[in-house]
Amino acid sequence: MANIIDGKKIATDIKDEAKASAEALKAKGVEPCLAVVLVGDDPASAVYVRNKKKACEYCGIKSLSYELPASTSESELLTLIDELNANKEVNGILVQLPLPKTIDENKVLLRILPEKDVDGFHPYNVGLLSIGKAVLKSCTPAGCIELIKRSGVDIEGKNCVVIGRSNIVGKPVGMLLLAENGTVTTCHSRTKNLKEICAEADILVAAIGKPGFVTGDMVKEGAVVIDVGINRGADGKLCGDVDFASASEKAGYITPVPGGVGPMTIAMLMKNCIKACEAQNSEALNA
Ligand code: NDP
Repeated sequence: MANIIDGKKIATDIKDEAKASAEALKAKGVEPCLAVVLVGDDPASAVYVRNKKKACEYCGIKSLSYELPASTSESELLTLIDELNANKEVNGILVQLPLPKTIDENKVLLRILPEKDVDGFHPYNVGLLSIGKAVLKSCTPAGCIELIKRSGVDIEGKNCVVIGRSNIVGKPVGMLLLAENGTVTTCHSRTKNLKEICAEADILVAAIGKPGFVTGDMVKEGAVVIDVGINRGADGKLCGDVDFASASEKAGYITPVPGGVGPMTIAMLMKNCIKACEAQNSEALNA
């Protein structure tokens, strides 16, 4: 039976580290600050935003909240982003996705200054990630790496297989594993012999969006299995992309859903707010 990686505990450790860093910054007269922008009234987005604000409170990071009606135009939103970009007090800008269909998401994400892009979605930050020089790494992928490392697993030289190649999860996870000197294979819907490839993985990351897709026969004995998926099963309950019951019989380490990757995203966001604040105030802090 696999060791279960406790994402809640690791996320709390990371938030506690962010809290200590926020205190150290405040002692030097710098207050980290995140601006959270929500457009429209999508209930799931409202929950995410509330959780992000709560995490800021926990970590001692100031949060500014902008809750705009669904009728907000693209140019109004871009004007707000420009104001937040220019506001020296604001270190991080987070625009909760998805945006209403009338607004071009890419245009909005491109408008955020890369040094304030705490979600790590700006192409400039994605580029830095691909050359191994990112300061602000996108939160869920970076959270996967923390889960592996903080479980005491060394990625170097390991055979790493990522299922999924989306811009927000699969691709950046692959790049981060490569930066840790893993030997990385990225799989997707056109991959042939997927089962065989997965069964060779020392580290297997599933980011597919299909409940229970990865079964025990696809898992190598003793492998580390990271389940990024968040799905609703036929019973309406939250479940991952991995069939936990069969995969945990084979894996050495495995993340549960919920309580694995999920809590890491917000924890890594807090870490990014601190990093952004430190980078933007480096002169004052080193004086
Ligand atoms: P996408 O739908 O953007 O990407 C899914 C990927 O899975 C695609 O690359 C697709 O391949 C691949 N795929 C689909 N079917 C198969 C198949 N049969 N065999 C092999 N590969 C397949 O999803 P996301 O990356 O955005 O999200 C993935 C999961 O992670 C979702 O469940 C999502 O809810 C969850 N998630 C969780 C987060 C967290 O905080 N824990 C954050 C973000 C996402 P192709 O490119 O060929 O279509």
